[in-house]
Amino acid sequence: MAFLQVEQLTKVYGSGDAAVRALDGVSLTVERGEFVAVMGASGSGKSTLLHLLGGVDKPTSGRITLDGVSLYDQKEEELTVFRRRQIGLVYQFYNLVPLLTVEENLTLPLLLDGRTADPARVLDLLARLGLEGKRRAFPAQLSGGQAQRVALARMLVSRPKALLLDEPFTGMDPETLQKAAALIRERGGGKNVLLATHDRDAIAALGWPVIQLAE
Ligand code: ADP
Ligand code: MG
Repeated sequence: MAFLQVEQLTKVYGSGDAAVRALDGVSLTVERGEFVAVMGASGSGKSTLLHLLGGVDKPTSGRITLDGVSLYDQKEEELTVFRRRQIGLVYQFYNLVPLLTVEENLTLPLLLDGRTADPARVLDLLARLGLEGKRRAFPAQLSGGQAQRVALARMLVSRPKALLLDEPFTGMDPETLQKAAALIRERGGGKNVLLATHDRDAIAALGWPVIQLAE
């Protein structure tokens, strides 16, 4: 059975004249361990798709099955736990907590789930992303690229089964992009990685298979 199955997914924001059909009957399948890039122009619904896959927003209609579990057939509390344990979503705009340091941001998701982070693992991730010196910094003291990498590290710390990355390479120079991609490949080994991007050059450099969203 496929790791991820999306069937006839539709998302409409708002209603009446103001309704926006962000996704219209999207179906796709991702096999276990597959790395896939969702490509599409700005406004084609990439972020919407990732939010629905990540369980943070509800579809208007359609069905998502992740590792045998039908996401939106679960009770709200079950979905919350499933999301925390199984899905790592990195938002397009990072969503770091401004009042917490980089290190605290990394360990927060585990604490919320009643688990503790392995300090050696946290340090290793920070080092591998070139953030050793930023451990005690606050989000406002980071550049865009650094904030992006903190969000990436925060997702990797909790070892989710599926990694969902929304425009993860924005603002990274080619060298940093290759480093981040290598880390995702290594840490993501055996996991599923789905990333959304409008950046053809980044995808060409990574050589990942592409699912194209229509506008
Ligand atoms: P992408 O990530 O590919 O740029 P999005 O998923 O962000 O696309 O947006 C798809 C469409 O849905 C756009 O027309 C956008 O304006 C609209 N949209 C996204 N989020 C909302 C929202 N919360 N409320 C209303 N419209 C939205
Ligand atoms: Mg987007």
